Amino acid sequence: MKAVIFMALLLVVYSERTMPMIERYSWIGAHHPSLNLSSLTHFHTLMPVKLRALTLCAQARATLLSILYHSHGVMSMEKDNTLKVCEIFTSIQGESSYAGWPCTFVRLTGCNLRCGYCDTKYAYYEGDVLTVSEIAAKVAATGIRLAEITGGEPLLQKETAALAKTLSGMGIAVLIETNGSIDISCLKSIPLVTVIMDIKTPSSGMSDNNDFTNIARLTRQDEVKFVIGSRDDYTWAVQIMRQYEIDKICTVLMSPVTLPPSSIDPKLLAKWILDDKLSVRLNIQLHRYIFGQDIRGV
Ligand code: SF4
Repeated sequence: MKAVIFMALLLVVYSERTMPMIERYSWIGAHHPSLNLSSLTHFHTLMPVKLRALTLCAQARATLLSILYHSHGVMSMEKDNTLKVCEIFTSIQGESSYAGWPCTFVRLTGCNLRCGYCDTKYAYYEGDVLTVSEIAAKVAATGIRLAEITGGEPLLQKETAALAKTLSGMGIAVLIETNGSIDISCLKSIPLVTVIMDIKTPSSGMSDNNDFTNIARLTRQDEVKFVIGSRDDYTWAVQIMRQYEIDKICTVLMSPVTLPPSSIDPKLLAKWILDDKLSVRLNIQLHRYIFGQDIRGV
């Protein structure tokens, strides 16, 4: 078993070093005019053999990280009752049906995915270890009654549910933003908790990691978010939404990618939604509109 874990760690470290190359090819794959994004096979044919192997390596890495974090704890950054926290700050909630409300954000460290458009890469590693009660005290001290636990990927750390439960017990409503690759069951019995779950679209380069069994765990107060970087993403998202009837379960959000090079005009996404008469909410990153694109901690 030790040998297996050692090999897994080697794979994780190796794929981490080569990730910028994979991300660059993912972007080319997502934007090449001759490619049909419904099939990443076309994209793979553009890549040199070594990079095809590295992409498979990256997908294996995402799965391995999740298994290691959860099953063996060998990659776990936190001890019992502690979490590794990248940052805590108060701002205006900008990316859900709660957009516009004052909210205290707890950004946890670590992510098992590497989306092409990720704007929080600093959360992959940066952070300090705090106890659940220290974090809860910092959130309570802000006097804001809405908190969001985000990342990175918050469900990689085993005490995240305990933090949500503690905040909820203090009468603070809790939003949890998760990337949709990890089972959300641990959150489902906690009052005042809303899950905002991504379903990764093809242009993220991470759509193979979606855990579609999570859809059956969603309830009315939860929200599903598709981040749309192209017309192909939009078509794919509509097909998934209809296939799983997600709009009948909970609110569906569609967000345009806003960071170049893969950004799309929100007006275009608005037109597609109106043309198709979709029951979805167009989600603009309100905090970026207010505070600017590259400002951290807002
Ligand atoms: S899941 Fe979120 S934090 Fe992780 S790589 Fe994707 S965008 Fe970045």
